[in-house]
Amino acid sequence: MTEKIFPLEYKGLKIDPVIFTQGFVPACNIGICGGECCDWGVYMDRDFKDVLTKFEKEIQDVMDENQIKDSSEWYEKDIEVDSDFPSGFAIGTETYTTKSGNEQCVFKDSNGFCSIQVMAMKNNMHKWAVKPKYCIMYPLTIVDNILTYDEEHSAKLHYCGINHEDNFVQTVFDAMKEELIFVLGIDCYNFLNDYYEKNYKSLNKKPHLPRHDEHHQIIKISEIKRLDIANQKKDNIFHKKNLKEYE
Ligand code: SF4
Repeated sequence: MTEKIFPLEYKGLKIDPVIFTQGFVPACNIGICGGECCDWGVYMDRDFKDVLTKFEKEIQDVMDENQIKDSSEWYEKDIEVDSDFPSGFAIGTETYTTKSGNEQCVFKDSNGFCSIQVMAMKNNMHKWAVKPKYCIMYPLTIVDNILTYDEEHSAKLHYCGINHEDNFVQTVFDAMKEELIFVLGIDCYNFLNDYYEKNYKSLNKKPHLPRHDEHHQIIKISEIKRLDIANQKKDNIFHKKNLKEYE
């Protein structure tokens, strides 16, 4: 297999140009999708668990009656070696099954909202102050130190996903400005935006779908296993995902 060349790099982070062309919906809209992207939980840095532990009671306070309040059941037991995380290890959030039969992240409530974000806003913190960064970034992700589009996860989603191009009105890069600035910083965003303006926007290139073979190359084996296991467990329910915490 030919190794893919990435023409753009920011301080060692490789940039997959798909982020400048992949289409996306006008905005995330839980009223339409019900927060479907949260149905598999998320991978976050192993040490980020300590950050969430500090807000355990506050998170429990905003959870609804169906969510799991026992924090010992919030995370998967297995910790994975993963160089995309600062500690070198990743841990996944657990899922639970709602009364209506949907399996979803332990932090997703019955309205489709993230209890971590609800807690932060209720306590006058920035909405993403303690939210796993791969949740913030979705549908963008970082895999093997490459900023890219999370095609594998996106393929499962019924509104914003890669197979629903009729809903696309902009690129993911345009859609994710606030998120990119928050996670990667304004200097990185400006660097990416300069490139985007010169090489895509000024040429009026239309958003398009990436070729599947390009992106499957960088999906990690561990993530594929995670998806396979989830799919075996729940045939008719759509799940989330290979989002990951990245710091
Ligand atoms: S932590 Fe919050 S945003 Fe991330 S998957 Fe769970 S519910 Fe969704």
